[in-house]
Amino acid sequence: MLGLAGIPLGLSFRFLDPSPDATARAVGDLVVGALDDVAAAAKAADGATVVTYEWEGVPAHTAVALAADVPVRPSARALEVAQDRLVEKSTFRRLGIATAPFRAVDERPSLDAAIAELGLPAVLKTRRGGYDGKGQAVLRDAGDADTAWRTIGDAPLILEGFVPFERELSIVAVRGLSGVVECWPVVENAHDAGILRVTRAPAPGLDAALQARAEACIRPLLDELQYVGVACVELFDVDGALLANEMAPRVHNSGHWTIEGSDTSQFENHLRAVLGWPLGSTAARGVSVMVNCIGAMPDRESVLAIPGAHLHDYEKPARRARKVGHVTVCAADEATLEPRRARVEELVRASADG
Ligand code: AMP
Repeated sequence: MLGLAGIPLGLSFRFLDPSPDATARAVGDLVVGALDDVAAAAKAADGATVVTYEWEGVPAHTAVALAADVPVRPSARALEVAQDRLVEKSTFRRLGIATAPFRAVDERPSLDAAIAELGLPAVLKTRRGGYDGKGQAVLRDAGDADTAWRTIGDAPLILEGFVPFERELSIVAVRGLSGVVECWPVVENAHDAGILRVTRAPAPGLDAALQARAEACIRPLLDELQYVGVACVELFDVDGALLANEMAPRVHNSGHWTIEGSDTSQFENHLRAVLGWPLGSTAARGVSVMVNCIGAMPDRESVLAIPGAHLHDYEKPARRARKVGHVTVCAADEATLEPRRARVEELVRASADG
């Protein structure tokens, strides 16, 4: 999607991906190699104006190695913070961004101590490597601690107090090379089994006060990291108070709606930022809903028959729990959007894993 956004701007791309079937092949040259293979990364970066990435799992040492020869934006530091939940949450706290209470858990006795301090329910997570709800366990009573420890206790962990949130929100923002920050409207996200299913943009009921509270959860972070590019902070909404859950140092799934639903997409603004170009407006155009296609694509013609619907087929082989595409549907107002959203969700549900 970054490549697709860059072509009209006159950009060309070389991608590094471990798979020879990477979908990025359609929009640029592909170097097949592991992301920790510095020689392969250097081959991809050879002659480039700038290097960027769209996955937070990129090994920071690859970014550091490349940065000796070419600007890497965002910097490796953003990866280091985002890859370790303890560092990430400690950074939020240091910057005055509220989070759930948390404790580091390194051995079995410290899990008991953390449970005693935070109480139950609580969520035990691996500090590194977890995503889409993997590498985590909800502890509801004391008996759950042993089971969770057996499942994920061989890695450094973090215990978080369970947040009884009303809804999950996120804010996507872009910081330019000059330090200017622009934020898209806050969106509401619905997850199922740890996977994002639906994003509503703007979040229902969004007002200037909520937008300002959400921006206060990302602006200090981007400034602290001297960040360049698009990033996302995922938030829990607890009766209007916001707690930051995690940051993604990249274009984010909850920002896919911006392709059709805002003046400038997150992808175009990411490219503008990393190239040091002026940023585009992040204003929403009407209202949008983005629905992820999980496991399989919905019937194409039925989706395209819905007014305001835009189909994105990633042309990935269908596989259980895999995001293989998304549909964004837009309208001028909520009343017009609602039946369109319902129809898209019905079609997506009918085709998906379950
Ligand atoms: P994460 O991998 O941290 O994004 O967590 C995946 C999902 O688990 C989140 O989107 C929430 O739905 C849920 N979750 C994570 N942490 C907590 C928490 N401390 N309290 C309640 N729910 C949580």
